[in-house]
Parts: sequence; structure tokens; C-alpha cells
Amino acid sequence: MLFALLLGLIFGSFLNVLIVRVPKEESIIRPASHCPVCKNPIKWYYNIPVFSYLYLKGKCAVCDTNISPAYLLVEVLSGLIFMAVFLKSPNIFYALFVSVSFSLLLALSIIDIRYKEVPDSINLSAFFAGLGAAMFYAPMPTFINLINLLEYGKSAFLLAGFFVMLRFTLSYFLKKESLGEADIIVAATLGAMLGSMNGFLAIFVGALISLVPAFIYRKKGVTEVAFVPYLAMGGFVVFMLKEQLWFMG
Ligand SMILES: [Zn+2]
Repeated sequence: MLFALLLGLIFGSFLNVLIVRVPKEESIIRPASHCPVCKNPIKWYYNIPVFSYLYLKGKCAVCDTNISPAYLLVEVLSGLIFMAVFLKSPNIFYALFVSVSFSLLLALSIIDIRYKEVPDSINLSAFFAGLGAAMFYAPMPTFINLINLLEYGKSAFLLAGFFVMLRFTLSYFLKKESLGEADIIVAATLGAMLGSMNGFLAIFVGALISLVPAFIYRKKGVTEVAFVPYLAMGGFVVFMLKEQLWFMG
């Protein structure tokens, strides 16, 4: 499981690149990672996930600027996602696709919170990773499982369709644009990874989690609340605890 954790930390490092660069429409390959303030490139031995951050006490090695702990948080969360998913998965291919999909949803959540926008490139990547997982959802992935792919693909479209109808209905009755278009793709991703029943359960769980901050923000007078993080959290909770959740219900 150490392998999954390390893989997750490294992928978390990549997620940080996505979070910083994709909303600005910069290339994710060039230039190499650099300090946001002094622009000095980060030496490879100062670019090791988590350890470099702790070693440099969250500061740039050249100019001493404080680097946001959000970078560390994303790496740690990604590491934990990979480890948890690998523990829960029947085989390594399935685990890889699911981990990548949930980690991309994590990056998407951070971008949604920070910029109030959701890049389609990351959203669609998470969807296709989730759909890819369906091909390997079996104890022994001896061949690519097309039946499963169709089955979970169906669930993806069902969830997406449900969200489209929900969006139009809410928008009609509330007389304002409700839910984002990006949420439709995220719902499809949950359907692709969890199937229809668990996908719906994930949306329900996500909505429940969203009530807590929605209540707090309401008092502060903030009305616009990003929904992608709650959908992602709902999806992850259901993925990890689906057996227990259905038993309780
Ligand atoms: Zn610097």
C-alpha cells in the first residue's frame, strides 16, 4: 500500500500543476515548476511531494516566500485517495482508473472553490477515467470488459440526464440559473464509477454534506456555493462505504 500512497503523492504534485495552470490556460508541461513569486525554477530535489514542503518549512528555497499549505493538502489528500481506493479495489487497473478519476475531481473541486469555474479539460478527463474503470471492474481483468463498459456507460448517461432535468426544473421554479453545467459531467462521472443506484446515492450524500456550509454561508450572505466539491465528496464516501450505507438504509 506504500506504493499506492507514493503514487498518489506524485499524482498530487501533478494536480497542483493543473490547479495553478489550467485556469490560466498555461501549458502544463512547460516551463518547469517555478516559484510563483521569484520565478526561479524549483530544483528537482526541492520538488519531492510533501517531503520538500516540510523540509523547506513551506518556503521557496530561493526567496523565502511562503508557499500556500494548500499545495501540501492536495498532495496528502491525493495520496490518501490512492491508498484508500487501492485497498477497496479488486485489481490494480481498476484501482488506477478510479484513483485518477477521484483525484482529478479533487483538483476540479479546488479550482471550483478558488475560481468559481470548472475547466472542461479536467472534468472530461475525470469522466473518461471513471468510464475506463468500468472496463476493469472484475476480480481478474483477463480481458477488457465491454459488457461492463456499456452497463456503466448507461448509468453515466442516466445520471447526466437526471442532472439536466433537475437543472431545468430548479431553474424554472427558482426563476434563476441553478446548478452548473459542469455538475452534469461530474454526475456522469459518478454514474460511470458507481453505477446508477450508487450514483444517485452519491448525489444525495453530496447534497447532505453541502447543507452544512450552505447554512453557514447563508448567514454571511454568500449565496454562490460551488457544488462540485460536494458531488465529489459524496461520490468518494459512497465508493468507500457503499455496503454499509445500503445496509443502514
Ligand atoms: Zn521564490
